[in-house]
Amino acid sequence: MSNNRGTSGTRGRRTSVCSFCGKSHRDAGPMVEGANDVFICSACVELCHNLVREEQRRAGKVTPRLKTIPRPREIYDFLNQYVIGQDTTKKVLSVAVHNHYKRLAHCDAAAKDDIEIDKSNILMIGPTGCGKTLLARTLARVLNVPFAIGDATTLTEAGYVGEDVENILLRLLQNADYDLEAAQRGIIYIDEIDKIGKTWNNISITRDVSGEGVQQALLKMLEGTVSNIPPQGGRKHPEQQYIQMDTSNILFICGGTYVGLDKIIRKRLGRRKIGFVSDQQVLDDVHDLGFVLAQVAPDDLIEFGMIPEFVGRLPICCSLAPLDEEALIEILTEPKNAITRQYQRLFEMESAKLEFVPDALREIATRAIKRETGARALRSVVEEFMLNYMFELPELQTGTTYTVSPEVVRGEADLLEPGRRRKESA
Ligand code: ADP
Repeated sequence: MSNNRGTSGTRGRRTSVCSFCGKSHRDAGPMVEGANDVFICSACVELCHNLVREEQRRAGKVTPRLKTIPRPREIYDFLNQYVIGQDTTKKVLSVAVHNHYKRLAHCDAAAKDDIEIDKSNILMIGPTGCGKTLLARTLARVLNVPFAIGDATTLTEAGYVGEDVENILLRLLQNADYDLEAAQRGIIYIDEIDKIGKTWNNISITRDVSGEGVQQALLKMLEGTVSNIPPQGGRKHPEQQYIQMDTSNILFICGGTYVGLDKIIRKRLGRRKIGFVSDQQVLDDVHDLGFVLAQVAPDDLIEFGMIPEFVGRLPICCSLAPLDEEALIEILTEPKNAITRQYQRLFEMESAKLEFVPDALREIATRAIKRETGARALRSVVEEFMLNYMFELPELQTGTTYTVSPEVVRGEADLLEPGRRRKESA
């Protein structure tokens, strides 16, 4: 590897230039030096690597990746281990992902007939903290195709401050270890897709004014296009070299909270809510919102501010229900990495035992529901009352069992009392 500011001889005074793309080390970063003053930059190395792979694939030297296609039930069962509720969405995702694999296998097996299976991108609608990102992340674990998560709020139309839409593709390529062929069959989750609606009122002059430009750019990507990706990321500029990536076989899953969409749907359905909001009403609303969102139609999304072509590119639309108290209690204990299990493990590491009584779980869930951030609030509620205990725990007598009661959650009782007593008597 050349450090470009060589330590001896004439090399120290010379600026190395990539013999392939002509960029200086200043623009291209560290380079590999070959015989006879030949240099190559990292972007060109990657490019060459991809070209060779592509060539090998064409010559049949690289084995196809999709050996077995996971069945929808297998995907669904896996999602079940981590995600509570949202049954319909889990089924929709399982089938969509299964079909995505099938479609790829179909493309591979040089279709005998001329029936082409269309790509079905997915739109997930649901309030914050109900599991949209979790579903996407969990999906990534079960799959053996590259997966990337992007955030629509950071995207801007070319020329404005922010990220180019292509950077999401770059992330996918990076997650595929720059294996272009694998990345072109990957899955991308784009979060906060509702924030690029053109009626989104939090407009900033540094972002494209309406959000419509971003929708147009995303549109092409969703539809299937050959995108030019800057290998180093960042904004595009004319002298840059690009990796060309075909998005026609990438499955896009988009997610958004669509705050206010329920009002549009309610208006269409002729159902309205009037009056003061009581605690019971909050709970009723949780069920009601899920019901209303489940009735979403493409026209509602267009009224919300999505351009019609964009809605058309997301043919599968599923809504996630807000989580009720029972679901939150389950989330506290059931998933493989449930928060109570995580705390129990932390206590085990201190040779102590932690238990939660059922009423304490209910107390945590009730507190969380009031914060209206879905399951996300569970962690903050638990962390708030546990913080001081975690601070003190390593100093206490080991081998003690601690029980979280509703009083402990409310801050009216001391969780570590048994450990303190034992330490004093020891
Ligand atoms: P969003 O719908 O806003 O994308 P997330 O999926 O990021 O919400 O949820 C935030 C956190 O809440 C997750 O990391 C997870 O711990 C928890 N969570 C949310 N929904 C569920 C669910 N249905 N099942 C289990 N945990 C959940």
